[in-house]
Amino acid sequence: MTVLQALPAFEDNYIWCYRGNEGGSIVVDPGDAGPVLAAIADGLRIAAIFITHHHNDHIGGLGALRAAFTGSVYGPEDARIPGIDRIVRHDDVLQISGFRPFRVMAVPGHTRSHIAYTDSSVLFCGDTLFSLGCGRLFEGSPEQMLASLDRLAELPEDTLVCCTHEYTLSNARFAAAAEPDNPERDHLIDDIKARRGSGQPSLPSRIVIEKACNPFLRTHFPERLTGLKEHLGFMPESRLARFAALRAWKDQFR
Ligand code: ZN
Ligand code: FE
Repeated sequence: MTVLQALPAFEDNYIWCYRGNEGGSIVVDPGDAGPVLAAIADGLRIAAIFITHHHNDHIGGLGALRAAFTGSVYGPEDARIPGIDRIVRHDDVLQISGFRPFRVMAVPGHTRSHIAYTDSSVLFCGDTLFSLGCGRLFEGSPEQMLASLDRLAELPEDTLVCCTHEYTLSNARFAAAAEPDNPERDHLIDDIKARRGSGQPSLPSRIVIEKACNPFLRTHFPERLTGLKEHLGFMPESRLARFAALRAWKDQFR
């Protein structure tokens, strides 16, 4: 088993398993217990569970997994998440035996209590930052989501981005519409098509890749977002307005 493993779940979810140097693994957002129990039968040992937000495709397996390990379930303060042992907040530092310290980041936008976890080498960001995209704004404002994405973009460039959904190729179509001329992104998409074609995940991505290719992290380059300008008939003045316009366009993009 590799250090970082994405267990496929449902249609397009991944349950990330991150193995520390004592053999135990952190399991992130187990929406379905099934794939995790199968991995346990294969030798996975759960050291801790991290929850990013309350949606059922991220927490649905918690109940069935509780008997399968003795460590803690970490998650945000939100009454909609049953089964959290340790509520964590922005800037909390988590010391889990066998791992480097993990820092908690508040990243509201997709939901109001959404959090992310990073040890500066990996980032578990749930449904906030996707490869070539970002989460829908179910509970937060564009302003909140932009601030959350800005915070993630400040992480070390080589940080591995472990998001929860395999949306990369459908996000790629929108990215190409918003910013038609981006050769680096085109190259990335070719790579990802090859990976998906051989049954591998497109993930993890890296912060440096997302900053170069993800239109939602490129709102400070209005001159590059020629597709957005064409779509709207004008280029919004502020970064926030550009971000909000991109997100609204993506919501109805087919
Ligand atoms: Zn979600
Ligand atoms: Fe989700």
